[in-house]
Amino acid sequence: MSRKYNFYAGPAVLPREVMEKAQAELLDLNGIGLSILEISHRSKDFDEVINTAEAKVRSLLGLSDDYAVLFLQGGASTQFGLIPMNFLKGGTADYVNTGAWAKKAIKEAKLFGTVNVAGSSEDKGFSYIPENLQFSPGAAYVHITSNETIGGIQWQEYPDTGDVPLVADMSSDIMCRKIDANLFGLIYAGAQKNIGPAGVTLVILRRDLLERAADGLTTMLSYKTHVDKGSMFNTPPCFAIYMVKLMMEWVEAQGGVSAIERINRRKAALVYDTIDADDFYRGTARQVDRSIMNVTFRLPDEDLEARFIKEATAAGLMGLKGHRSVGGCRASIYNSMTMEGVEVLADFMRTFRKRHG
Ligand code: PMP
Repeated sequence: MSRKYNFYAGPAVLPREVMEKAQAELLDLNGIGLSILEISHRSKDFDEVINTAEAKVRSLLGLSDDYAVLFLQGGASTQFGLIPMNFLKGGTADYVNTGAWAKKAIKEAKLFGTVNVAGSSEDKGFSYIPENLQFSPGAAYVHITSNETIGGIQWQEYPDTGDVPLVADMSSDIMCRKIDANLFGLIYAGAQKNIGPAGVTLVILRRDLLERAADGLTTMLSYKTHVDKGSMFNTPPCFAIYMVKLMMEWVEAQGGVSAIERINRRKAALVYDTIDADDFYRGTARQVDRSIMNVTFRLPDEDLEARFIKEATAAGLMGLKGHRSVGGCRASIYNSMTMEGVEVLADFMRTFRKRHG
C-alpha cells in the first residue's frame, strides 16, 4: 500500500506505527476479547487507558499535581466559550489578537464580559506576533493563541502576566517544543493536529482557578464537573482518548518533547531554507515569528500556486493549499510528519522552482 505525504492542517498526519498499533488492537484490547470501541467507559480496561493517557501527558509536559488534566468534547471551539463562561463573570479579560483563531476566542468572550485587546497584528494581515502588549489592571486572565494555524505565526516567548493567569490555545502546537507549563493557568488543545484524532480536546487547568469559577452553570459547561469527575461525568470520547494514549507512548518513544522539538526545528528549517533560497517562494510570516508547525508561503502568482498544489497532489504531497480565508500555500508539519516527508516536499519545491522560476 502506498501512503501519501499528509500536509493537511488538521485532522492531520498520525505516525504509521500508532495507526498500526490501533489496527492490531482494534478487535481485542489487552486480550479481553472486546474492542476499545465497545467497552464501557467504567470498565477497568478503559480506566487503564485514560489513566495512562493522563499520566503520560503529565510526565511529558512536566505537570505538577497543581494541574488537572481533562479530556473533553466539543473541540477547542467549545473552550473559546467555556473559558469566559467559567472565569470572566462580567469582568475584563485581555486577549491578544493574532489571527483567525484568536478572533473566534474573542468573539465568544464578549458574551461574558469585557475584552481588552492587549495587542493585535491585524494591521499586517496577522503576519507577526504583537509586542508591547497593553494589559488591563485586574484582568481575569490573559488569552493567547500559541500558534496561529492559518497565519503560520507562533509565539517564541510567552508574555509575563504576573499573577494574572495565562490561558493558551495550543491546538496547533501542543507538545511541539518544550515549554514551562507552570507559566499557564489553562492550556487547551484540540487533539487532531499533534496528539491524536479529532473528537477529544485536552484541557490542562491549574486547580486553584476553580475557586474563582462561576457557579450556576449547566453541569457539562462547568470545569468543576469535569475536574471532580476526572473527565468521566458522562461518556467520554473513549476511542479518541485511547489514540491520545498511543500518541503519548509514541512521543515517549521518540525521546520526549525535547527530542521531538529538535526534529521539528530541523524539519521547519529545511522548508524555510527552501523558501528563502531566492524570491520565487515568499514566506508570509515575519521571520522571527515563523511557526515550526504551519509553514505559510506564496508563489509569484495565483496561477502558479494552483499549479504547485495540483502537481504536488499528483506527486502524493497532500494538503498544501492555504486556508481558504487567506489563499496561498501552507505545509503543516506537525510532530507526526517525518523528516523524510519534509525532504520530499523540499525536493518537490526545488524542482518546481527550477521548472517555473
Ligand atoms: N484553535 C486553533 C489554533 C485551531 O487551529 C483550531 C482548528 N483548526 C481551533 C482552535 C478549532 O478547533 P476545533 O475544530 O477542535 O474546535
